[in-house]
Amino acid sequence: MSAPDHALVLFSGGQDSATCLAWALARYPHVETVGFAYGQRHAVELDCRAPLRDGMARMADWGKRLGDDHVIALDAAMAAVGATALTAEQEIALGADGLPNTFVPGRNLLFLTLAAAIAYRRGLRRIVAGMCETDYSGYPDCRDDTIKAMQVALNLGLAHRFVIETPLMWRDKAATWALAEALGGGPLVALIEEASHSCYLGDRSRRHPWGHGCGTCPACALRRDGWQRWKGRP
Ligand code: ZN
Repeated sequence: MSAPDHALVLFSGGQDSATCLAWALARYPHVETVGFAYGQRHAVELDCRAPLRDGMARMADWGKRLGDDHVIALDAAMAAVGATALTAEQEIALGADGLPNTFVPGRNLLFLTLAAAIAYRRGLRRIVAGMCETDYSGYPDCRDDTIKAMQVALNLGLAHRFVIETPLMWRDKAATWALAEALGGGPLVALIEEASHSCYLGDRSRRHPWGHGCGTCPACALRRDGWQRWKGRP
């Protein structure tokens, strides 16, 4: 049996998943995290996970709520499937199918399946993930219908009653910054600005008001534009 208010957060070290972790810590008495190494060019995001967890453990009563961290290595499996611009040195561009070549086919389906397997083992009923279809790149595995279908498939396939929660699904990036502020005020916003990572190119050598990154890749542009709209600045 899984505890109805115990949660597992898909936690990559990015802005969205960091906000999701805070969202879960504000709600649930026991929260574990899972991260995936899949040969991402921005593997530096995985190094951001510990500082983010440590920082949130010092906020409110979140320290006693924050449980184990799990890291699953998928590098070899994803490499065997084949390269994308997110996992190899390729120019980021739009493909003939209208999807950016940063799309890693099946990635989020795989992540949710593995997360459900961990949640099953650990007795965690809620799976919290940062997928968003509001201002994202049109990745089909981020869509609300995909996530709902995955919940049904996993509950059937594992004979369980998981609830997949996606608090950012209908929030744009500006609203995601606002959510962080509502959850943890200035200290949480400052932690996410400094310690989370979004840049597809893995660049942490440049610090902008909105955080570290190259400043020009699609992930940096989304993060910067959202931050500026939230701040009310051009
Ligand atoms: Zn960038």
